Amino acid sequence: MESNWDVIVIGAGMAGLSAAQKLQAAGRRVLVLEKSRGVGGRMATRRDENAQWDHGAQYFTARSAIFRRQVAIWLRANQISRWTEPIYAWDGQNLQISSPQQRFVGTPKMNAPLRAMATALNLKLSVQVTAIQATTQGWQVSAGEQIWQAQQLVLAIPAPQAATLIPSAHPTQAVHAFAAHTPMQPCWAVMLSCEHAINLPFAGAFINDGALSWLAHDSSKLGRAGQNWVLHASVAWSQAHLENSADEVIALLIQEFNRLLKQWGQAEPNWQNALAHRWKFAQGSSTEAVVQSAETGLVLAGDWLAGGRIEGAYLSGIDAANALLAATVVQ
Ligand SMILES: Cc1cc2nc3c(=O)[nH]c(=O)nc-3n(C[C@H](O)[C@H](O)[C@H](O)COP(=O)(O)OP(=O)(O)OC[C@H]3O[C@@H](n4cnc5c(N)ncnc54)[C@H](O)[C@@H]3O)c2cc1C
Repeated sequence: MESNWDVIVIGAGMAGLSAAQKLQAAGRRVLVLEKSRGVGGRMATRRDENAQWDHGAQYFTARSAIFRRQVAIWLRANQISRWTEPIYAWDGQNLQISSPQQRFVGTPKMNAPLRAMATALNLKLSVQVTAIQATTQGWQVSAGEQIWQAQQLVLAIPAPQAATLIPSAHPTQAVHAFAAHTPMQPCWAVMLSCEHAINLPFAGAFINDGALSWLAHDSSKLGRAGQNWVLHASVAWSQAHLENSADEVIALLIQEFNRLLKQWGQAEPNWQNALAHRWKFAQGSSTEAVVQSAETGLVLAGDWLAGGRIEGAYLSGIDAANALLAATVVQ
């Protein structure tokens, strides 16, 4: 693969792929580098022999016209589907139906639309970028011994990870400080299966009491089978148990789910296939005005620049691409 590109995008989540798609459509030669073995980032699905779970993002909504247009394309291609099952909220006393919204999920896995976007892009997986450096030609990007050059760079990764890569010296000191000042919060996710259906009125529920923040009958989404459940711990609980082992987290969160099931009049299921995943940078959103550095050829993208969530990630990728397309690069 060539080592010289117009633009290198670091990160193949929603933000990176939307930036790359837009830049390539505008005629730029774009390379995407991703540290994982697949695309999707936090739009992730975990599989074992008998089950699968969306253990990161659960669904997405589409409010802006620009994202709705993209959603319509994915729907027509069957890369996403509507998740129409009831979603409830629990406040410790009452289970109530949550406000109705159009919710979408990747089909058959959460990253399906991103896999489709990636097919038209130059993408290198399993490449963890370890350093970026400004040069007279633009930017040098290193992953251990491997080196690439590009005139422009999109960093489409969570704020704390961006802060470790962006040079803190002139001319990127302001954008480095901006990323470094944006905290992101963790989330412990637990994935479970059981043999028999649980008789609950909802497919997903926001839990506003105790250790959990969300639970979902993952198999209720189109293209999924079985009795697979996902639990998300609250930010406070995840922070307090950040360094616990996966086994400890599984035991504590199953106990919490069983407690809720008992309150809702359900027998304790025979849980199987229990797995846990710690999302260190699950969510976060800058509360400051976004600082970019397009004149240096470097821009940021990511949900944290645009209110968090998948739609924000998509829109921030488009904004980053537009900023680079409009930029006059000053070396
Ligand atoms: C538990 C959980 C639940 C969520 N629920 C929802 C929800 O229901 N609805 C919703 O809209 N959003 C939800 N979100 C948020 C949603 O997942 C994100 O907003 C969105 O996926 C972020 O996309 P992104 O492209 O900004 O970042 P990411 O998806 O994080 O993508 C960044 C990519 O960069 C890669 N990367 C990082 N560092 C490097 C490096 N040095 N070199 C190369 N690659 C690198 C990562 O591997 C990753 O693939 C949830 C997130 C979590 C974790």
